Amino acid sequence: MGLRQGPRPGPDELLVAGALSLGLHLEPEQVAAFRAYREEIARWSARVNLTALRDPEDIVRTGFLDSLGCLPLIPPEARRALDIGSGAGFPALPLKLLRPDLAFTLVEASRKKASFLHHMVRSLRLAEVRIIQRRAEALAGDPTEQGAYDLALARAVAPPPEQGRLVRPFLGAGGLFLLQVGPGPLDPDALDRLADLGFELARELPLPAALGRPGRRVLAMRRAEGRAGGECFT
Ligand code: SAM
Repeated sequence: MGLRQGPRPGPDELLVAGALSLGLHLEPEQVAAFRAYREEIARWSARVNLTALRDPEDIVRTGFLDSLGCLPLIPPEARRALDIGSGAGFPALPLKLLRPDLAFTLVEASRKKASFLHHMVRSLRLAEVRIIQRRAEALAGDPTEQGAYDLALARAVAPPPEQGRLVRPFLGAGGLFLLQVGPGPLDPDALDRLADLGFELARELPLPAALGRPGRRVLAMRRAEGRAGGECFT
């Protein structure tokens, strides 16, 4: 049954049903954590320009479930994850709630959004989450950050090739860049530019139509072995 059929579900029911459509069973404590997260987004959004997502259904669908759509593509052995331009925490914090073993670094240019991220990480008692208020381009100059991650995301920060350019210095050889895209084929020029950056398509996952964003897909792009990490900013 699709999520749009029958009586209109509340946000928690929507979350649980959407997660199930992704093959994920949420425990009651996890549902409570997402509820607390949703309520804090609503509370902060009254005074800070945090996210365009305002009503509870949008936060659940476009914030939480769309972020969780990346989960099936994250290898079990992945450990160090980077989210560039996290905004209100998407996709990093929903992923962290379901994969607490991932050590996440969130890079966010905006001071107010970084404050919200600190607040949320404290409220949800999340361990091994680092928040850096800085532009990714500047952080990429730090040798300790170069090639330091198994996995990188930059949802909605820029068009796909630009996202690739942002995440690339941080990924080790064989590291994964998860790219979330809408319906329709990716522009061949964008794929060429990603290939020029050393990314090859490893897997593609269409998100279930039940999530309410038809055609939405996640592409797992692998950083080719043996490529240098820093020259894409020259
Ligand atoms: N990723 C979140 C999402 O999907 O909801 C937020 C997307 S929002 C459109 C883009 C965010 O990226 C903003 O919070 C902005 O401050 C941040 N941002 C943009 N360029 C950035 C950069 N070069 N380095 C770090 N953060 C950046």
